[in-house]
Amino acid sequence: MNAVVDAAALDLGWTWQNRFAALGEAFFTRTSPTPLPEPQWVGTQPALARELGLDVAWLAHPEALQAFSGNRALAGSAPVATVYSGHQFGVWAGQLGDGRAILLGEVDTPAGPMELQLKGAGLTRYSRMGDGRAVLRSSIREFLCSEAMHALGIPTTRALCVTGSPQPVIRETVETAAVVTRVAPSFIRFGHFEHFSANGQIGELRRLADFVIDRYYPACRDGDGNPYANLLEAVAARTAEMVAHWQAVGFCHGVMNTDNMSILGLTIDYGPFQFMDAFNPAHICNHSDSGGRYAYHRQPNIAYWNLFCLGQALLPLMDEQQQALDALEPYKTLFPAALTRRMGAKLGLVDVREGDAELIEALMQLMHKDAVDFSILFRRLCDAAGGHTEPVRDLFLQREAFDAWAARWRERLQSQPGFDDSVTAAAMRRVNPRIVLRNHLGQVAIERAQQGDFSEVDRLLKALMAPFDEREGEDDLAAFPPDWAQQIEISCSS
Ligand code: AMP
Ligand code: MG
Repeated sequence: MNAVVDAAALDLGWTWQNRFAALGEAFFTRTSPTPLPEPQWVGTQPALARELGLDVAWLAHPEALQAFSGNRALAGSAPVATVYSGHQFGVWAGQLGDGRAILLGEVDTPAGPMELQLKGAGLTRYSRMGDGRAVLRSSIREFLCSEAMHALGIPTTRALCVTGSPQPVIRETVETAAVVTRVAPSFIRFGHFEHFSANGQIGELRRLADFVIDRYYPACRDGDGNPYANLLEAVAARTAEMVAHWQAVGFCHGVMNTDNMSILGLTIDYGPFQFMDAFNPAHICNHSDSGGRYAYHRQPNIAYWNLFCLGQALLPLMDEQQQALDALEPYKTLFPAALTRRMGAKLGLVDVREGDAELIEALMQLMHKDAVDFSILFRRLCDAAGGHTEPVRDLFLQREAFDAWAARWRERLQSQPGFDDSVTAAAMRRVNPRIVLRNHLGQVAIERAQQGDFSEVDRLLKALMAPFDEREGEDDLAAFPPDWAQQIEISCSS
């Protein structure tokens, strides 16, 4: 299958499968990356290299720099840009596709088959009005956040490295180009299904759905239900878990369009995302989202709306509409259950009991009223479980209201069989991160990188790899955001 047999191509000893490309020409356009002039390393993730069975030393080598900038082919890869469509901000947007991402192919790794994609690798057939590039700023954010989410245990696409170039890229100002190497078992989105369904290409729709079921959801063929309805239900279950994870760390995605929803329930396409500082359920992280469609508290319902679009796209493969509606139904209970479980664990609760959802909600309301910092609150609550209550109490303006809540919480904790302060505090520290990728932390690393100093990208990556640990020299990363953090405006521009 048209794999690269260029004599100059680098052979990493990987076995390439390129199964997506085997789906056929209707699904993609063969596209090679556009060379990136004068590339340099911005960041690398050795931990992922190891997982992929890559020689970590090679990742620092000039050959790797050329390969992951799109300047040298990898032997066995068969690069393509895939076609998809989608709903953007609630409106059907028609054909989109990989406008700047190029799928190099799929390799067999010790972690299983993985697709490699270069984001920002130049024009494709689907670039529309865009230039096929990504700027350094957004590439650093995607690189760091992908790996940070993974370290938090949140399903996500991964990032192996970022390379940068002096090549100018025009956004609101003139910036420079960068390329992120993304890694995931699959980059298939809800929008891939919507594309073929909307175009009446039902044969292709079925082929895509069969491909996804056979490879990633084989259990959907068990029993005598409709396998495509089963697929919808399985995707909905994974999506519920993903969004519950997001809500529990105060993560706002920012652009939950259906083309940014992974069929594997992975967090994908890091744009104007944000880990919230002061808690506000209606927080909008995307400066372009004036209506607040993707505000923090709307994420669970938007995920459902997106699943509904996926269900609609899959309808031609079902016997009746009711199958899709039935498949979507469990989301309505799975999501709240997953959220209560996660939030309960953050409070040190080992199981979910009646009244827990209200206990959690009461805390969130107090946090909202006093605009308490999301991550610092939960981290200090770990200390409070161990009896050290003053620091968390000091976060509230209305300390008596907090005291009343804390008394309820302590009573609930003490009702757990064999309750032990320090064991509970330790368990809570394993689910309440000390360090998250706050906007201002990314901003500091970006501004240094724009001056040619990439050391903060690396320091931040290392800290984000151990988000639950108390480590020396990282207090600044765990601290309250500076006031200027409120002024940072992150839009769709990337
Ligand atoms: P996003 O909002 O980043 O998920 O992108 C939505 C669509 O626009 C996708 O089809 C992207 O590939 C495409 N796109 C975004 N930025 C660019 C760009 N600079 N050049 C070409 N296509 C782009
Ligand atoms: Mg996208």
